[in-house]
Amino acid sequence: MKIKFNLITQIFIAFIVAIALGIIFGDSISILAPLGDLFLRLIKFIITPLILSTLVVGVASSGDPKQLGRMGLKTVFYYLLTTAVAIIIGLSVAFLISPGEGVDVSVNESEQAAAADTESQSVVETFLNIIPENPFDALASGNILQIIFFAIFIGLAITFVGKKAQPVYEFFDGFAEIMYKITAIIMYTAPIGIIGLVAPVIGEYGLSVLLPLIKVILAVVIACLVHAGIVYSSAVKIYGKINPIKFFKGISPAALVAFSTASSAGTLPVTLKNTQENLGVSTKVSSFVLPLGATINMDGTAIYQGVAVVFIAQFYGLDLSFLQLLTVVLTTVLASIGTAGVPGAGLIMLTMVLSSVNMPLEGIALIAGVDRILDMFRTTLNVVGDASATVVVGGSEKELKK
Ligand code: ASP
Repeated sequence: MKIKFNLITQIFIAFIVAIALGIIFGDSISILAPLGDLFLRLIKFIITPLILSTLVVGVASSGDPKQLGRMGLKTVFYYLLTTAVAIIIGLSVAFLISPGEGVDVSVNESEQAAAADTESQSVVETFLNIIPENPFDALASGNILQIIFFAIFIGLAITFVGKKAQPVYEFFDGFAEIMYKITAIIMYTAPIGIIGLVAPVIGEYGLSVLLPLIKVILAVVIACLVHAGIVYSSAVKIYGKINPIKFFKGISPAALVAFSTASSAGTLPVTLKNTQENLGVSTKVSSFVLPLGATINMDGTAIYQGVAVVFIAQFYGLDLSFLQLLTVVLTTVLASIGTAGVPGAGLIMLTMVLSSVNMPLEGIALIAGVDRILDMFRTTLNVVGDASATVVVGGSEKELKK
């Protein structure tokens, strides 16, 4: 008898195999890492053309700048609101678990120096940076917000120009189809890629590395589960009339890719594919909401920053006043907007949050050792959060196929 597994099952199996391999072979399993890099490069190479073409087509085919504006407002509002809730959940769970009490984490000097060295962008700069000085530069360097800006303008202008711009529209439309096809082909390599990405991480971080910080990891995981279970579940149920189980199942391949790659930008092609094919979100909505989300919406990162602040405060025996907590909520929302969807970005943005409440930046070195593990969890939530936005915005714009 021949058993055929679908892609979702294959990805799940690969994941379990990766964990087993990591535990059995330890550090030496890093020899599989090139397989992970291969998969990462494959999905990364299509991000820029995929965003550009699908977003141009999405905007141009809506033909209605008003709908676009409305969609934009809803999306940004949902992103900000859920991020604010996320950080509050993160802080609450952290206070309940008290991850920083009674721990002794040794910090090496180079990590401390690196922590003190990192600097973050100012808020104004972050906003101004959305406008590319040279769109081709933005495309070449893969600056997602700038690409979004460029694509929206092309799409809008295509509608305004009308007939003469039709060939350009058709070009992007055909190009977008080709990009989707390439994504589908690349996904066949996902199981191998996931083994190559996950096994070395598990091999490197044996249990002994994780133990001192196990409470930090627990706090982040619990807060992520609470956020997904309450906020996303009710949002997709109310606005998208989608059963939460169906939602989580539909987005699970993207969630696993996010977990393995720790990059929401890198996961984008898969998130686009899942929301359109498994959740019935229209291209118009998904191609607008997701690239934006991969850059500005980071609920998992917000949770992580909340937990990290409490952990570092407790470790150094500092008390956090109510005003400081409020500052943390505000700066975390801003920091998560400025966080790029790449591995480790959240750790760098943590400097901004810590300095806003005058906490020692060296604290970053305390959790830097297990940051990759935390990154895997927070990125998964970041991606699931983006997907929930497509359902919410799609539902309220009547852009969901049943
Ligand atoms: N790795 C995260 C992401 O790609 C960002 C972070 O480091 O928090 O979504």
